[in-house]
Amino acid sequence: MIFYSGCKQDQSAPVVNDLAIPNDSIEPRKPRIKLDYDTSQWLEITTEHTGILLDLRYASENNFTNQKIYDCPRCFLRPAVAKKLVQLNRGINTRYGLSLKLFDCYRPGPYQQKLWDIKPDPSYVTPPAKGSMHNKGLAIDVTLVDEKGKELNMGTGYDFFGEAAHTDNFDLPEEVLRNRKVLKAMMEEIGFKGIRTEWWHFSLREVQGELSDWTWNCPD
Ligand SMILES: [Zn+2]
Repeated sequence: MIFYSGCKQDQSAPVVNDLAIPNDSIEPRKPRIKLDYDTSQWLEITTEHTGILLDLRYASENNFTNQKIYDCPRCFLRPAVAKKLVQLNRGINTRYGLSLKLFDCYRPGPYQQKLWDIKPDPSYVTPPAKGSMHNKGLAIDVTLVDEKGKELNMGTGYDFFGEAAHTDNFDLPEEVLRNRKVLKAMMEEIGFKGIRTEWWHFSLREVQGELSDWTWNCPD
């Protein structure tokens, strides 16, 4: 049996997520269980490996369509996007006791179509032919939580469609404006940009990523 520096091989250890493997490892450790996705294209964010909380609404009925769109909740992003978020989460956790909580990550083309079939209205859903940054794996829907996991007050819930969710609306309580400002500043610090109509949506436009139809596996 080979031992790597400071890290004993353990057959009972959980799945090795690629995010846990340092990029500069001289000899990458072999995953004990084969990952079920192409790590040159995607990285998976799991709470276990990153501390980032997940509440993937489209994998439940708790979203604006009241229907389950994703077969199961998994959060995939283009590697550059995922790495930036993991780093940011570590930083804000250490410094402020805050964590990121994600509502949506990469959204496969077929799921975008499913959303469009339910709500064929461009004010709510991007037409599948056009595709969105979520379909490229370059966007996230995110909020901040405190050390107890409680969401900071952002004025509206996720996927609230209306002026109260707009980022150029300053007719909101001081606390809400402050929290939104903090979220925006943190995301901009790592190169993400927001949009006018949704305080929770940010994307990384400097990275290349094509629209994709790849859909993750779900447990049987
Ligand atoms: Zn979004």
